[in-house]
Amino acid sequence: MINVCDIHVMKPLLAEHGFHFSKAKGQNFLIASWVPQRIAEDAGVDPSAGVLEIGPGIGPLTQQLALRAGKVCAVEVDTRLEPILAKTVGEFDNLEILWGDVLQQDIPALVTEKFPGLRPMACANLPYYITSPILTALLEAECFDSVTVMVQKEVAQRIAAKPGSPDYSAFTVFCQFYAEPELLFDVPAGCFLPAPKVTSAVIHLKTRKALPWDIHDRELFFRVVRASFAMRRKKLANGLASGFPELGKAGAAEVIAACGFDANIRGETMSIPQFAAIANQILRRRG
Ligand code: SAM
Repeated sequence: MINVCDIHVMKPLLAEHGFHFSKAKGQNFLIASWVPQRIAEDAGVDPSAGVLEIGPGIGPLTQQLALRAGKVCAVEVDTRLEPILAKTVGEFDNLEILWGDVLQQDIPALVTEKFPGLRPMACANLPYYITSPILTALLEAECFDSVTVMVQKEVAQRIAAKPGSPDYSAFTVFCQFYAEPELLFDVPAGCFLPAPKVTSAVIHLKTRKALPWDIHDRELFFRVVRASFAMRRKKLANGLASGFPELGKAGAAEVIAACGFDANIRGETMSIPQFAAIANQILRRRG
């Protein structure tokens, strides 16, 4: 197997194919072989796993996944990588490469078609310019056992943040609604070519099998979350009144009181069950 993380292998390989990195496609390739090895190991990839990889690049993580998984499907948008991947991962008969934009894929359909009888997982060194839309699509697909991804460290911290901490955001609530996050390890910028400006981190999201909260209207719940964070340092009452004009200030205060919360409560300190209580209360008022 070609060690694609070895810079003395990678550089001539890229040059041979006249390949130049595309910043627009978020191309920072791994040049430290411990990183893809550890991602595949810590993700728990084994022969029972069907792994969706996003953005194989020249295949460092793809190799480690294909060595361990029952099947790997890798979605790559940059077709210039085709002849390179043929050399670096062409030997794996449990690997299928799909050429296209991952955001255009019907992910649940793809998982059903490609991984029958396998435990679906997603694993990737994500292109950072579309981290949020990709994670949103992977979690909303509700078909993976786990999602293990490398992202910017500050995004990983945001995903795993606790209520009341500065990193806690609407995106935190979204991710923790679907999954339990665990920060795995940091990856310094020097582990990539070209080196990004930021430190990266690998995060493991164990998806929830049954959602442990009683939420009657999911769309309304997420609307409450967005409204609560839209006016970050303000009281929840203000955020609700502005996000739900039909409530007005008085209605927002009534909703908060009916949930038994302090009138001065702020969205950035609230847990998912507390957001759920507010959403359910708004629904109840609608009758
Ligand atoms: N996995 C490789 C590695 O670790 O060295 C490459 C990771 S690089 C950060 C991101 C990869 O995602 C690139 O190969 C890039 O071409 C690909 N990519 C970017 N946008 C994409 C999209 N919308 N759909 C699928 N792949 C995409």
